[in-house]
Amino acid sequence: MISLQNIEKVYRTDTIQTLALNNISLDVAKGEFLSIMGPSGCGKSTLLNIMGLLDAPSKGSVRIDSQQTNSLGDKQLAAFRNKKLGFIFQSYHLINDLQVLDNVELPLLYRDTTAKQRRELAAQALEKVGLSNRMKHFPTQLSGGQRQRVAIARAIVGRPEIILADEPTGNLDSVMGNEIMDILTGLNQNEGTTIVMVTHDENMARKTHRLVRLFDGSQVQ
Ligand code: ADP
Ligand code: ADP
Repeated sequence: MISLQNIEKVYRTDTIQTLALNNISLDVAKGEFLSIMGPSGCGKSTLLNIMGLLDAPSKGSVRIDSQQTNSLGDKQLAAFRNKKLGFIFQSYHLINDLQVLDNVELPLLYRDTTAKQRRELAAQALEKVGLSNRMKHFPTQLSGGQRQRVAIARAIVGRPEIILADEPTGNLDSVMGNEIMDILTGLNQNEGTTIVMVTHDENMARKTHRLVRLFDGSQVQ
């Protein structure tokens, strides 16, 4: 589903050059739930951003669902990302002055949908994460675990085949973290969604199918 070949990422500023990823090749199968671990600064977020087409590699190729993405222009890339991928971040990235339902509808604004369809799909996504009773709330009126569930609803509302999650349980206590993991595991098992998750937590990584460890930009396992 995702195929990375010989990925290198160099960040350059006037004075410094950082080799963030050093020749990474990695295949993620359709339906797989993969976790990525490693110390701070080892390149985990960079790798996830490259998989998610949020950032381009300095060298190497990224194929998603057989599409070679290197040749896509910015507009095509944005459309492809919107259709194929859902993102979840540690810090939720919700828009605080929009109600929960409106936050969840956001990815659908870039698609050919009516307002009624968007409301229905968003309500369904919120039902899947157990938040049907919070549609009219604002994010600041929710707990961290609830906010992350809204973020998951937003990630799945367009029915992406792939979810990329960067430390989705990083700001949560273990009870709420486990709830989030249960939702992700359910999506993987019941809907066949391919999931790649960056985590610091061995307990969370253990619940996934496979673990990739990074150290200093290289894959060590
Ligand atoms: P992790 O997610 O494992 O903490 P990152 O992928 O964020 O690691 O960063 C990998 C390396 O690349 C680090 O050394 C970091 O300082 C560097 N880096 C990340 N983003 C940038 C950037 N925008 N500009 C320069 N260096 C960066
Ligand atoms: P962390 O999970 O480590 O807190 P963030 O959640 O802040 O990291 O985001 C990880 C990376 O993804 C950052 O480089 C950020 O710029 C980028 N990012 C965050 N939100 C979005 C978004 N909605 N669309 C595109 N890129 C985003």
